[in-house]
Amino acid sequence: MNNSNKRTIRKELFKSSIILSCAILIIFSILSSSVLYYSGISNAYAVIRQRNQAVNYFIAGYFTKIHNAVQFLATNNKIKNAPSLGADDHKEILDLYKSLEIANPDINYIYSGYKNGSLLINNYTPPEGYNPVVRPWYQVAIESAPNISDGLPYKEMKTKEWLVSISKVLIDLENKINGVISIDCSIDTVGNLLKETGGEYKSSYSFAVKQDGKILIHHENSFLNRTISDVINSPITFDKKNGEFSYKLNDADKLAYYSRIDKIGWIIVTVVDRSEIINPIILKIFVSILIIGVVAVFLAWFLSASLSKRFIIPLIELKKRVNAIITGDCDLGPAYEYPKNEIGTIATDIEQFTEHELYAKNIELQTINKKLEFLSTTDQLTKLSNRHKMNSQLEKEWKRAIRYGNTFSLILFDIDWFKKINDTYGHQAGDSVLDEIARLIKNTFRSTDIVGRWGGEEFLVLCPGTNLSGTKVLAIKLCSTIESYQFTVGATITLSAGLCEFDEHKTIDHMIKEADEKLYEAKRQGRNIVVD
Ligand code: GH3
Ligand code: MG
Ligand code: MG
Repeated sequence: MNNSNKRTIRKELFKSSIILSCAILIIFSILSSSVLYYSGISNAYAVIRQRNQAVNYFIAGYFTKIHNAVQFLATNNKIKNAPSLGADDHKEILDLYKSLEIANPDINYIYSGYKNGSLLINNYTPPEGYNPVVRPWYQVAIESAPNISDGLPYKEMKTKEWLVSISKVLIDLENKINGVISIDCSIDTVGNLLKETGGEYKSSYSFAVKQDGKILIHHENSFLNRTISDVINSPITFDKKNGEFSYKLNDADKLAYYSRIDKIGWIIVTVVDRSEIINPIILKIFVSILIIGVVAVFLAWFLSASLSKRFIIPLIELKKRVNAIITGDCDLGPAYEYPKNEIGTIATDIEQFTEHELYAKNIELQTINKKLEFLSTTDQLTKLSNRHKMNSQLEKEWKRAIRYGNTFSLILFDIDWFKKINDTYGHQAGDSVLDEIARLIKNTFRSTDIVGRWGGEEFLVLCPGTNLSGTKVLAIKLCSTIESYQFTVGATITLSAGLCEFDEHKTIDHMIKEADEKLYEAKRQGRNIVVD
């Protein structure tokens, strides 16, 4: 299997950590984004609501004074009946106007126009053919009669300045409309005041509209006298005391809040560019996602590292150590300190179990090996060394003799007429004879001598450190022991033997051959003989 495709706990854990960090990132990003979005929007509305309220109070204060002045002047008898009065009274009226203009710097002009075409005003010479009756401020007052007009923005004919006039009809003694008293204020001054450039939102500004939607005060003069629905191209009604709405103006999305000035019935609208609110929110969301991302990655790394330390590294170490034990690598190093948790307990148990199992297997193997060795080197019938073992013993003795200059001798025994035993008493009886002879040989020779079964009924005895004559004595002793021994089968059995002593010029084969020849010679001479 390709190693890179191999599934490892480490890889699995890494994958899980990645999934976990993604999940944390997604969940917390959605949560924080919604919280930031809604709190940002509501905070923005709170700010513009506050501004709107401030403007509302400001405008209410500003125009209430003007309203009061108009009301007050409209009750003045001289002003009401001015066309029928003389120049002195006119001067007195104009002086009153002047003193009020001086007292209130917000007032541009105070004037009264009459149905006979006359006009009372300070510091203003009307153009040729000027007729107050046809002027908008006059018309509006007539329309609003007997109430005060709710304000009319208009462009002054001579100065081209935008003014808002508050006017009211003058009722004469006969209870007929005799004319109109009007006070003008500069809209530019008020409009600019409402255009806030400082504060939290640079795009924020306020303006005033009449109940019918006509724009009264706006820093953008081109909007004056147009309805707000016309400017923003969508119908807006101000049926509540205050409220929110949004619209598009010159490709910019605007959020607006409005409130009504109860006393004069005007609506104050405060707007702000949506982008100015949304952009910082998006930035905040981006930063928070970034922070959450960093925290999620750190958490995932921390989790993966700590799980790795507690569970994976001990498992990898266990695998390494178990492998080492199985392959018989003795260099395990110092005992590994497994963590004190279930993994640690299991790992220690597995390591110990593997070691014990392996130790037991080794012992078993050693026993089997010993058995195998015994089987491969021992003759099953007589329990003497077999020919294979005798050959290796011969080689050892021969090498030792060569190296240390020792001598050794060997005797090759063969049972005489053994075939007859088998034929007479049966094969099993022959086997028991072989076994008895083996025991007798073992008992006759010294423990340092090596006795083995060389072939069917042939035995080989190695006598280390013994010369030919010493060996011959032992061979003869054995022959007489066998001859006089009462075998189970009841027959007398004899042995013939051929001897050979080591000589540095003789190979092992030579020695065996020589002993075999001597044995043959013994047989030839009549058996039960030792030939050296
Ligand atoms: P000689 O005196 O010339 O040695 O005569 P012999 O009969 O002993 O010799 P021969 O080689 O003709 O016969 C050997 C016999 O030994 C033949 C075989 O059946 C018998 N024999 C060999 N191995 C065993 C054995 O393991 N058990 C038994 N019962 N007989 C065996
Ligand atoms: Mg034989
Ligand atoms: Mg024989």
